[in-house]
Amino acid sequence: MTAPVVIVGAGLAGYNLAREWRKLDAETPLVIVARDAADFYSKPMLSNALASKKTAETLVMKPAAKMVDELNATVLAQTEVLAIDVAARSLRLGSGETVAYRDLVLALGADPIRLPLAGDAADEPVSVNDLGDYARFAARLDGVAHVAILGAGLIGCEFANDLIARGIVPTVIDPAEAPLSRLLPPQAGTWLADRLGEAGVVFRCGVGASRVDRDGAGYTLTLDGGERLHADLVLSAVGLRPRTGLAGAAGLAVARGIVVDRVLRTSAAHVYALGDCAEVAGLNLPFVMPIMQQTRALAATLAGTDTPVRYPAMPVLVKTPSCPTVVAPPLRNDGEWLLESVEGGLIARYRLADETLAGFALLGAATRERQALLSQLPAWLD
Ligand SMILES: Cc1cc2nc3c(=O)[nH]c(=O)nc-3n(C[C@H](O)[C@H](O)[C@H](O)COP(=O)(O)OP(=O)(O)OC[C@H]3O[C@@H](n4cnc5c(N)ncnc54)[C@H](O)[C@@H]3O)c2cc1C
Repeated sequence: MTAPVVIVGAGLAGYNLAREWRKLDAETPLVIVARDAADFYSKPMLSNALASKKTAETLVMKPAAKMVDELNATVLAQTEVLAIDVAARSLRLGSGETVAYRDLVLALGADPIRLPLAGDAADEPVSVNDLGDYARFAARLDGVAHVAILGAGLIGCEFANDLIARGIVPTVIDPAEAPLSRLLPPQAGTWLADRLGEAGVVFRCGVGASRVDRDGAGYTLTLDGGERLHADLVLSAVGLRPRTGLAGAAGLAVARGIVVDRVLRTSAAHVYALGDCAEVAGLNLPFVMPIMQQTRALAATLAGTDTPVRYPAMPVLVKTPSCPTVVAPPLRNDGEWLLESVEGGLIARYRLADETLAGFALLGAATRERQALLSQLPAWLD
């Protein structure tokens, strides 16, 4: 019997790859292994679920059992892959079983980064990176008036805006001068902070948090300068780190993510990687649009036609309804941001010395310029 194609991971990368590949190959056995419940959901919805009144249950778009039927696959949920043997082309599972593969795809996602905090509650800030995390987070919000959010990146800002819908006051703490510091120039970050501030988000930028201690039913946070603030709950949103441990232990090349070439092949034969865990031609882009490009290319490769992934420029929609924001980050640092104020909005263009547009950010009413600017951007990977 033919060994199956095995996908490790049942997130947007794993499941969308399976869907694309099944369009090209309906017969070859497919096994999907995931250490979570393997229900199909859209992770971006986790940070606007409160406003849309979604629960962990209603966020599930298709339970694992239905995915089995749709994909004609074996889905091993709540099953951790402990090791990969690339020479024997097999996986060792937490259950003790061994699974052989024809081709293996790693779609392992990324882990939330934890800040090195002091204090007797240093381990208690919660992160929301999957459905289970969201269920635990939502269950703790009853009676909560004030949430401190560590990190004013995309995820921190989105949760802050979402908490307002529940009447909760969020305080977002970040050592950078302004929110979204990895995506926006500081003046644009400040513009966003002002709009979110009008909606009720409190920003404490330019200072980090150094300790978290228990304080009654809540917490006291101590900031770097010694200032203290109280919160009923602390949410940590300081970034994600690609899950590379399994690949590294198997001897696969790993840098920031699992290193893959343009056909998403790792350094080992018959092993591929995509999604948040992968670094494609030097780029680790933990967003949905790159994943969709990857799934189509890899599906074709697994079906027998080596197909390099292509990335057009792919803007990210920041889900902060109090300040609609679209960013096409410049994937280089040799240009400069130029800002233009427009009625009810702000346009930031990232221009190179020869005037070429290499990225942009659009805030407020300026988001209507998205298509016009996008058409001027060069592809990220041609
Ligand atoms: C709150 C939030 C909001 C976001 N909003 C946006 C947005 O608006 N727009 C956007 O483009 N992107 C957004 N993103 C990013 C986007 O959601 C991710 O890029 C995408 O969901 C990653 O999918 P993935 O399949 O690579 O990883 P994941 O969905 O994390 O899936 C990883 C899978 O691997 C499994 N796994 C890991 N290790 C093992 C193991 N050893 N054994 C077995 N199984 C294992 C896990 O159980 C899981 O099934 C957001 C992310 C977050 C957290």
